[in-house]
Amino acid sequence: MSKHKFDTEINQLLDLMIHSLYSNKEIFLRELISNASDAIDKLKFLTISDEKFKDLVFEPRIEIETDKEKKKLIVRDNGIGMNEEDLVEHLGTIAKSGTKSFLSQLSGDAKKDSSLIGQFGVGFYSAFMVAKKIEVLSKKAGDEKAYKWVSSGNGEYEIKEAKKKTQGTEVILHLKDGEEEFLDDWTIERIVKKYSNHIPFPIYLLKEEEKDGKKEKKFEQINKASALWRLNKNEISDEEYIDFYKQLTGDSNDPLHWVHTNAEGTLEYSTLFYIPSVAPFDLFRVDYQPGVKLYVKRVFITDDDKELMPTYLRFVRGIIDSEDLPLNVSREILQQNTILTKIKKTSVKKILNELKKIKEKDFDKYLKFWKLFGKVLKEGVYTDFENKDLLLDLMLFKSTKRDNVSFKEYKEAMKEGQKSIYYITGEDEKMLKNSPLIESFKDKDIEVLIMDDEVDALIMPMVTEYDKTPVKSVSTSDIDEEQKEEKKEEDKKKEEEFSKILVKMKEILKDEVKDVKLSSRLKESPACIVFDKNDPDFAMQEMLKQMGQSDLPKVKPILEINPDNEIVKKLSQNDSLAELNDVAYILYDQARLIEGMKLEDSSEFVKRINKLVAKTL
Ligand code: ADP
Repeated sequence: MSKHKFDTEINQLLDLMIHSLYSNKEIFLRELISNASDAIDKLKFLTISDEKFKDLVFEPRIEIETDKEKKKLIVRDNGIGMNEEDLVEHLGTIAKSGTKSFLSQLSGDAKKDSSLIGQFGVGFYSAFMVAKKIEVLSKKAGDEKAYKWVSSGNGEYEIKEAKKKTQGTEVILHLKDGEEEFLDDWTIERIVKKYSNHIPFPIYLLKEEEKDGKKEKKFEQINKASALWRLNKNEISDEEYIDFYKQLTGDSNDPLHWVHTNAEGTLEYSTLFYIPSVAPFDLFRVDYQPGVKLYVKRVFITDDDKELMPTYLRFVRGIIDSEDLPLNVSREILQQNTILTKIKKTSVKKILNELKKIKEKDFDKYLKFWKLFGKVLKEGVYTDFENKDLLLDLMLFKSTKRDNVSFKEYKEAMKEGQKSIYYITGEDEKMLKNSPLIESFKDKDIEVLIMDDEVDALIMPMVTEYDKTPVKSVSTSDIDEEQKEEKKEEDKKKEEEFSKILVKMKEILKDEVKDVKLSSRLKESPACIVFDKNDPDFAMQEMLKQMGQSDLPKVKPILEINPDNEIVKKLSQNDSLAELNDVAYILYDQARLIEGMKLEDSSEFVKRINKLVAKTL
């Protein structure tokens, strides 16, 4: 016999469970059945993929038994089982790093924590909500020895050798006082039907019956055991879809939406995809858990293949089940398998089109989706070229005029004579809305899309066009060419008028800027900073830096000055001013500040301003 201590995180979790913060206790049975079903899946997979297990014949089954006198509830499976090491690793430590980080988010605030746990899927330990002691008797397939794990959930557990005939696991719950309802056949049957009706294996309940005055015990199947995703859509109720989702994911919230496909024809397969209504906790982690499981002819193959969905759809949960793949597919083969590639491709299109439908028919629901997963979906714009147009139609943005605008709506509201769709990228919505770069747009009542998501800076350079209309950043320098067209003559005159001051400022700022130009986009501000159309703009540079590109060459901006502004006018009238040097730097520095950029030397900036202020006083 050996004694062990639980990981600290498990203790935290147990503490929560035992004090039963989670209101929905009955789900412990779903969790145990789900583990049993996974264990059977794993053994089935071994019998088709591993020589050692080729000859193992087993009839998958899950059994539930009660002992009403001793207040015991037993859940038994004939799946893969666990050896001593497995028991320590799976029921004593928390292996998945994602799980650890989830648990570290627990705050100690009961209400908050229990809702977090609901999102997370509570697993084996949830059984401590109803049990004062749990025994796990298990024998791993192919092994001689069996082991028993025992714990009362008080920080420790024991493992000892034990006797068991066949492979698989038996979880024995010694129920707490007051939890006797879970010994009741009718209650058990109700819970199993609710959550586990459509797992692909039969669940039997040992029932007592009276026959000719004699009591007799008999196993009776209490679930349908029909893989839900293989049934016809019209045979499945919404409730069944929802319960199946909960069983599949452990999420206690209803899904936001689902898409079910049974394809027949050249390829025969079923897919059932769900969109959660709460973001998975590891959505923005590199080591996120993929949400789609692969089955072949109803046999589970893998739930650990990130290739089954593009990363920008990593929030999708569900199942792909193919009739045409060979049962003994290896993971390597999966990667290049043409059948699977086709299924994946159609699935992605299907999901995106479904989203489009929601957007058109139920915009409120779409907004919910967009708030949860919009940022992730945007990644698709630069990773999935094939579906780019479809993806662009799914995008929503803020603008200078409204919230949640699509490209299509923007286009429909374009001013007469407006040639392009305009956007501005950066970190802060408020700052962007006040940026001097959009002064002239505001003046002309032209809408500008406000892009303050980090990912925007990365995707927007890929979007040069939407439905044949050019899409342009207001911070690229070629934009005013288009704006200017009508007033070329006037501009030429101004150009001449200001040519001297432009040359002088260029000379002063030659280490800082690529060029100094007259601006037609400014209305009030004296100056602004833009980037050459071939250079990455500021938001993009920041993004690249954050992605680890620290060796980025310094990209010099272009300084634009406003010929209608007081300061600029005065400068041009007196370009031999002693303060010209200081003023040039002040204009440049303030333009940087307004863009949210850092100053290279802020003390110099302050000194210069003070010098000028002192002079005017
Ligand atoms: P999860 O199922 O989310 O991984 P659990 O806490 O429910 O988390 O279970 C932890 C692990 O213990 C499982 O991943 C599995 O490896 C193992 N396990 C639990 N129940 C069984 C079982 N009936 N048969 C075999 N292994 C099991």
